[in-house]
Amino acid sequence: MNKHYETIVAGAGVIGSSIAYHLAKRGHRVLLLDRGRIAGKASSAAAGMLGAKEDSPLFQLAKASRAMFPALAKELKDYSGIDIGLQQHGIYKIAANETEKQELIERGRLYREQGEQAVWLKPEELQKREPAVSSHLSGALYLPNDGQVSAPDLSRAFALSATELGTEILEYTDVQGLIRQGHHVTGVQTNRGAFMADHVVVACGVWSEDLLGRHSIVMETYPVKGECFSVRTRRRLIQGTLFSKGCYIVPKSGGRLVIGATERAGTFDETVTLGGLIPLIQEAAQLVPEIVSAEWETAWAGLRPQTKSGVPFLGLHPEYTALSIASGHYRNGILLSPITGKIMADIIEGKEVPEEWLSTENLLHREVKL
Ligand SMILES: Cc1cc2nc3c(=O)[nH]c(=O)nc-3n(C[C@H](O)[C@H](O)[C@H](O)COP(=O)(O)OP(=O)(O)OC[C@H]3O[C@@H](n4cnc5c(N)ncnc54)[C@H](O)[C@@H]3O)c2cc1C
Repeated sequence: MNKHYETIVAGAGVIGSSIAYHLAKRGHRVLLLDRGRIAGKASSAAAGMLGAKEDSPLFQLAKASRAMFPALAKELKDYSGIDIGLQQHGIYKIAANETEKQELIERGRLYREQGEQAVWLKPEELQKREPAVSSHLSGALYLPNDGQVSAPDLSRAFALSATELGTEILEYTDVQGLIRQGHHVTGVQTNRGAFMADHVVVACGVWSEDLLGRHSIVMETYPVKGECFSVRTRRRLIQGTLFSKGCYIVPKSGGRLVIGATERAGTFDETVTLGGLIPLIQEAAQLVPEIVSAEWETAWAGLRPQTKSGVPFLGLHPEYTALSIASGHYRNGILLSPITGKIMADIIEGKEVPEEWLSTENLLHREVKL
């Protein structure tokens, strides 16, 4: 097998699938490859919160990406038939005590300084909006513009929409190495043979470094394991997402609640442990006491791709030509997926990336070395 494409995207998580979708929409001939199933890894483990954080260097980028979701939801539904489950009921950052209350009031000020809506709610105001929330809390910072989606549905919707637009997808296709002429990348070698392309994008999440390392490309990334569980309730307990220091509770459709997440750096182990779940369960019950009568559904774990600098690698490789990298979105890959797809498509087409996005200094990461 030796076929030629304009772009090959290695990794069909939310990031690779969004890139494939954005390129396909512009008429590119794309091949999307994954060693497992579409969105079989972190992108299906995610809770799907679209939470732009005011203290992040990616804040402007995150806001721009979040703003893309309403139109994207419609577009992806039209192409793929998949409803990505966009809900725009905001996120409540919960204060459990006086110290957290002061911290959150200050963060609210910082949000507003940057043009973002943020409303401090006293305990009685919080309870009025969300009656199932415990009366023993110290209030909440309400961020009305932060929504949520179904992460697995979003990832699959990108991939299926890309297919509708002509992208070829091959699952169970392990990209084992890059094919090169010197420093010029011309394709990929897989367990199903060679595939040639004008451009190759590596979007393999926590496994990007493993693939690129075979070509002496050093990325400073590491996995951060996260465990979650879900329950079902007979009535909808909460409308908005609750986010406290110990856990978050994300209300999905049909009375389903997703509760997460642990954080353990440096392991590729994807097992779910009781030691991980017990504190999450206890914390969730502190926030919403009625949750203890919810029906158990399931639990899972995923690996967040983190970089040493804390911002993703996005852009052309500085030494190899016809190679780009989109990896390291850590806790924000779902939120950042629309803008990542757009930026990478722009970069591959040789277009200027808008200055306000590049102002996040490490966007085009320079630390990748030969
Ligand atoms: C518990 C948890 C909760 C989260 N919650 C949120 C949230 O609420 N909001 C948010 O924005 N983000 C959240 N995230 C983060 C988000 O899930 C990630 O940032 C995002 O999914 C990363 O996407 P990705 O496509 O880079 O990686 P992945 O989804 O891991 O996809 C990488 C793909 O590459 C494939 N692959 C790897 N190596 C190869 C190879 N050699 N050849 C072919 N294919 C290969 C893998 O099989 C995989 O399918 C959460 C993550 C976790 C774990």
